Amino acid sequence: MTAAQQTIHVGGEWRAALSGATREIIDPADATAFAVVAEGGVQDTDDAVAAARAAFDDGSWPRTPVAERAALLRRAADLLKRDRERIGALESQDAGKTLEEGRIDVDCVRDAFLYFADLIANEDGGGRVVDAGSDEIRSVVVQEPVGVCALITPWNYPLLQASWKIAPALAAGNTFVIKPSEITPLSTVVLVELLLEAGLPLGAANIVTGPGDTVGARLAEHPDVDLVSFTGGLVSGTKVARAAADSVKKVALELGGKNPNVVFADACSTPEGFDTAVDQALNAAFVHSGQVCSAGSRLIVEASLRERFVAELARRAAHIRLGRGTDEGVECGPLVSAAQLARTEEYVASALGEGAVVRAGGERPAGAGYFYRPTILDRCHRRMRVVREEVFGPVLTVETFDTEDEAVALANDTEYGLAGAVWTANEDRARRVAARLRHGTVWINDFHPYLPQAEWGGFGKSGIGRELGPGGLAEYRESKHIYRNLTPRPVRWFAGETHKDQA
Ligand code: NAD
Repeated sequence: MTAAQQTIHVGGEWRAALSGATREIIDPADATAFAVVAEGGVQDTDDAVAAARAAFDDGSWPRTPVAERAALLRRAADLLKRDRERIGALESQDAGKTLEEGRIDVDCVRDAFLYFADLIANEDGGGRVVDAGSDEIRSVVVQEPVGVCALITPWNYPLLQASWKIAPALAAGNTFVIKPSEITPLSTVVLVELLLEAGLPLGAANIVTGPGDTVGARLAEHPDVDLVSFTGGLVSGTKVARAAADSVKKVALELGGKNPNVVFADACSTPEGFDTAVDQALNAAFVHSGQVCSAGSRLIVEASLRERFVAELARRAAHIRLGRGTDEGVECGPLVSAAQLARTEEYVASALGEGAVVRAGGERPAGAGYFYRPTILDRCHRRMRVVREEVFGPVLTVETFDTEDEAVALANDTEYGLAGAVWTANEDRARRVAARLRHGTVWINDFHPYLPQAEWGGFGKSGIGRELGPGGLAEYRESKHIYRNLTPRPVRWFAGETHKDQA
């Protein structure tokens, strides 16, 4: 890159927006601008798609042997390791995370690249041989790259979400255009730079920084894009699906969640069990100020345990240290934007209007930046907006149950279905409840971990398709069945008598 605002990369060239438009990037810890990026538009997007199209149709990447593709992904992982501090700090400032969270994100991004490198390197390249029931037929199903991929990502885990798309897209042999969130584009620009440094052929990786309703919408509808993979909110996700429909491109959607954390009293029958369940409930709800798609924002706790559990949770929530992510001792950063702060305040106000009781937080601290105190709303019920809709802020609602059936019914009473947890010391109950939860990830006596080897995604309105795992690679592929007849003969379905006469 030659200048700060040259954040659009098209076919090997870093450039500013054709219109000359720029956008200031805001540090959410003090609400001041600290970077400037190009504000791309429709023509920038069309140029990027054309470059990705040419690189797919005529370029070397789709035809690069698998071992070389895997080697490039590993080189990218090495470069991420080299630049861990720089990128971690950038992510921390841009997205309002603690520095340690920024570093962990870079490690997880690295893991994704290494995982997909290993996955393709260990595959049988010959395809899947199909038993056609005859020695005269050779039938094989091979996997091919889908083509030009449009990748649209959100602001909460900018680099991580980008890597869950870029790594499998490249592993499968695709070319791509990525549009990061306009709020947090910086680390994705750096990732594209690293891919180029790692030796990715020009045109295979393109980036357009810019808004969703122009750049994102154009990518979703573009006739030369073969697949759109979107991570973000439900409202934008449905727009993407609609825009993609006319060209019948493949669509993958990773949307929101309203994730239940179900705690049975038997999980807390020992002091250690109680401490662990409270600690993890705190982490589930408030890590990254609750701006996590899988945040455990609904505590569903057995009624007999409620008062003890919520009192301790509230005591600990009040001690969470808010501040700039790079400051010593800070445990939680700000919300990402003024809009996200206003949204959180509005949800809390609406909950109080519907009868919720504040047990912790419920207000902004004094000072600059988009901070909001970790908030626990007790006496909630399933019909409240704050229980049904994704707040994407540090707000935990509390509901209670008396029976296992009630707990499951509450946990499944959501239009989403991304993730959920059950806490119990009873093995049979753990198995039963896990089997009945309609969520893409179910944790038993844990919350939040994911594995690159395991598919991630949601039931219901949490999305379509999966990221990570073999299923996450399959999203970026087309299956092709190659059927070979070793002894071709006429089939004589039509006009067999005529042929006989002519003979
Ligand atoms: P968002 O929907 O506002 O934006 C996401 C991306 O879509 C951004 O790049 C945005 O510019 C773009 N966009 C907006 N409108 C568009 C349109 N009409 N066409 C194409 N692109 C458009 O979401 P956000 O506020 O950035 O992120 C928060 C949301 O992301 C939450 O709902 C969260 O749950 C979800 N999320 C889901 C996962 C998951 O794995 N399921 C992971 C992270 C975040």
